[in-house]
Amino acid sequence: MQDGYGRIINYLRVSVTDKCNLRCVYCMPPEGVERTPHDQILSFEETLRICAAAAGLGINKIKITGGEPLVRRGLASFIHSLKHQRNIKTVTLTTNGLTLSDFLKELLDAGLDAVNISLDTLNNTCFRRITRSNDLQKVIHSIEDACKTQLTIKINCVPMRGVNENDIVPLAELARQTEIIVRFIELMPIGLGSDFSPIPQDEIFEQLQSAFGVLTPSDEQFGNGPAAYYSAAGFIGKIGFISALSHNFCGMCNRLRLTGTGLLKPCLSSDAGIDLKAIIRDGGGDAEIADAIRAAVMAKPARHNFRSDNNQHKKKNMFRIGG
Ligand code: SAM
Ligand code: SF4
Repeated sequence: MQDGYGRIINYLRVSVTDKCNLRCVYCMPPEGVERTPHDQILSFEETLRICAAAAGLGINKIKITGGEPLVRRGLASFIHSLKHQRNIKTVTLTTNGLTLSDFLKELLDAGLDAVNISLDTLNNTCFRRITRSNDLQKVIHSIEDACKTQLTIKINCVPMRGVNENDIVPLAELARQTEIIVRFIELMPIGLGSDFSPIPQDEIFEQLQSAFGVLTPSDEQFGNGPAAYYSAAGFIGKIGFISALSHNFCGMCNRLRLTGTGLLKPCLSSDAGIDLKAIIRDGGGDAEIADAIRAAVMAKPARHNFRSDNNQHKKKNMFRIGG
């Protein structure tokens, strides 16, 4: 599918739950959030129907996200079904890694292609401060276990001023020692994220060059999206940057997002979405679903509006949209 700005849209991020077993300070309040009634969440059958319609229109890469996707029962079997849909080439997962070890075998058997593990620090105290959990070692074990498989592994870190500035080099060190790709994702002013300050890419770049020497751009692409990748002398893995604010990449946008409640969002910064759940539950056919997907593609704005001064993004929730 091509949007109104000539961009090819071939990637769908699918949030399968808004529940999470962590409470990251920039994403969820400490007490958690009001539960979305189970019947308001798309069933896997409904989600598969949407994915099939999207695949028929040119979506060939799917990322499973959340909340924490691994808290949803039956995820591996859902991934297995996705992998067997026509035109779907890759199915990947983004997780906080807390329970990844427990599910690795079934995810691999289901055909999962790659995993992104969100990890903002390797320091126990800082991990507790950010996630309000003491379970850093579980995440580290998951990373170690995932490294023993054929999965492509990326670690996603959101650097925040005064929070995990000292963790940037230790995390990047993982890419020096292993095949892991370590990416630094610029904090966006969405929901609780607006209470923290991002660290711009250029500053992280300088910090990494001071520690590891010159970072050279890598021509290789390692995922579904707009990250810029670099390597450094002696590195086995790579360093990546995704910087929505300081290095806008909207010109390369290739994605749509489906929330757990069935809203299809043209852009992370869009206020509304197209209600695919309503279409399906009102008895809509596959042609209607396809029309709605095309409409979402045509509703994609040229670029996000995170820089605008209003507070509208504070009302959004990353744990519902899926990142
Ligand atoms: N729970 C899973 C995880 O943490 O990977 C999947 C959902 S989480 C919402 C997806 C990603 O969004 C995580 O890497 C998280 O760090 C990132 N994220 C959450 N809020 C953000 C914000 N305001 N700006 C940038 N990234 C954010
Ligand atoms: Fe949960 Fe992911 Fe949000 Fe952290 S970033 S609270 S792990 S959904």
